[in-house]
Amino acid sequence: MALAAFRDERQESNPMITCEEFFVEFGDYLENQVSPEVRKELELHLSQCRACHVLYDSTCKTVKIVTESGSFDLPKSVSDPIIDRVMARLRTGPS
Ligand SMILES: [Zn+2]
Repeated sequence: MALAAFRDERQESNPMITCEEFFVEFGDYLENQVSPEVRKELELHLSQCRACHVLYDSTCKTVKIVTESGSFDLPKSVSDPIIDRVMARLRTGPS
């Protein structure tokens, strides 16, 4: 019914990238290194994929605490391993 129509429309107008493709660009996305086109794809995936959204959300919170909070004020040498660890977990997680 309405759901099927929505799904068909989505496939035609917005073919969603896979979680794997999302992870490939995820690090660059967090650092605002992606093109507007890629950013759009990633944000579309985030809006459709709960698993990636949860990971994105928790990663953003971690990154924000590390990079934006004066009270934590960690140098990049500390924040990078945290991001690396999150990314490693994403790569090795269940597919
Ligand atoms: Zn996903």
